[in-house]
Amino acid sequence: MAPADLKKEGPIYDLPIAIGILAATEQLSQEQYARFAYLGELSLNGSLRSITGALPNVLAAVEASMDEIIVPRENAAEAALVKNATIFPAASLAELAGFLRGENNITPFALDLGHYSMPSAADCPDFADVKGQHTARRSLEVAAAGSHNLLMFGSPGSGKTMLARRLPGILPDMTFHESIETTKIYSLAGLLTPDMPLVAHRPFRSPHHTASAVGIVGGGRTPRPGEISLAHHGILFLDEMPEFHKNALEALRQPLEDGVITISRAAASLTYPARIMLVGALNPCPCGYLGDPLRECMCTPYQVHRYISRLSGPLLDRMDICVEVPRLPYEEINSKKKPEGSASIKKRVELARKRQRERFFSVHQNGSRKAPFCNAQMRPRDIGRYCQMTKAARSLLQSAFQTLALSARSHDKLLKVSRTIADLDGADIINDGHLAEAFQYRSMDKILANY
Ligand SMILES: [Zn+2]
Repeated sequence: MAPADLKKEGPIYDLPIAIGILAATEQLSQEQYARFAYLGELSLNGSLRSITGALPNVLAAVEASMDEIIVPRENAAEAALVKNATIFPAASLAELAGFLRGENNITPFALDLGHYSMPSAADCPDFADVKGQHTARRSLEVAAAGSHNLLMFGSPGSGKTMLARRLPGILPDMTFHESIETTKIYSLAGLLTPDMPLVAHRPFRSPHHTASAVGIVGGGRTPRPGEISLAHHGILFLDEMPEFHKNALEALRQPLEDGVITISRAAASLTYPARIMLVGALNPCPCGYLGDPLRECMCTPYQVHRYISRLSGPLLDRMDICVEVPRLPYEEINSKKKPEGSASIKKRVELARKRQRERFFSVHQNGSRKAPFCNAQMRPRDIGRYCQMTKAARSLLQSAFQTLALSARSHDKLLKVSRTIADLDGADIINDGHLAEAFQYRSMDKILANY
């Protein structure tokens, strides 16, 4: 099989090889087989088995001007997502050979997305069920509006996981283009089913803290996308973040910065997309009760320090928003007030995202491919350009800078988050109120300063 220097893997070539044998033994003529591309695994009795990676393979075939493609039946819906492709689903080699010789017919697969039971946004848990936690709720809204990475800390049972699971429900809907990008990764990972050929909602991935670095960022002998790529265009949630393997956390740094993960192997290097919002949760200390009004913390300052310092500085630098999620007081648990639901929060998030798109659009038009799409992606020089402040905000920042001894990184994070808060407020210029709110989301700095 050519090219010889490229290592081939997987059963996807079974069907092309079988067609090659039929052609070489003159059971098929060139005009019968040559106009199609073939993908599929063969079982010993000649039936076609589904494959992983049908979607990206069909996309590649169409790009190479092969737009009539034979695929196993189970892969038909997924393959048919590709525009301009005509998909012929086949059940067996015998059926296919008959079709190629014109003895029987295979009808091209027509995709009707309405026919599939897409999990609707209503399946995502709603913020209407979250009582109290005003600061945490608001910080999640800000994070969603600017696509900022977020860190939550608080004692066990305070609701960090419950809050994180509601994030997909307030993010803007996926565009079709985003859906296809994420679906390609699920296709490679073999996670699509005939009933669910398209990833239509933002993924929420929540790997266990025992996951390996390969599990998190991808790789392995037969390379597979990792959790960070399965969360592409959605959320990667790391509960009990300091408990994760250190090398797994370290491996996140580069993809968080670049939005892609490159896996180097002996034969070749692979790049998977990994544009995510990272949400981390941690206890304030190993026992979980530091600062808890009801239970005493049993940890020594040294233990707390060791626990917190497992999150490396460079990783913390990429968390724009850090917020405390305290245990709810009794009055709030029993409050009769109905909390705001996800639908209306999502509307504000969408408006803020629209402002960002409009602001950055002219840059994209000028052909700058590295320009930001949302506030979290702003680089230092974008911050100078897009984060204009009122006079009051400037003097607040200046005095805070001196009293809190802020680093350049903290300064940039503050301004990015302030920019998002101003966008939620519909304001072009950041005022002192926006900035003051952004200061609230630096709780981690306080903890780090104490330990
Ligand atoms: Zn403790």
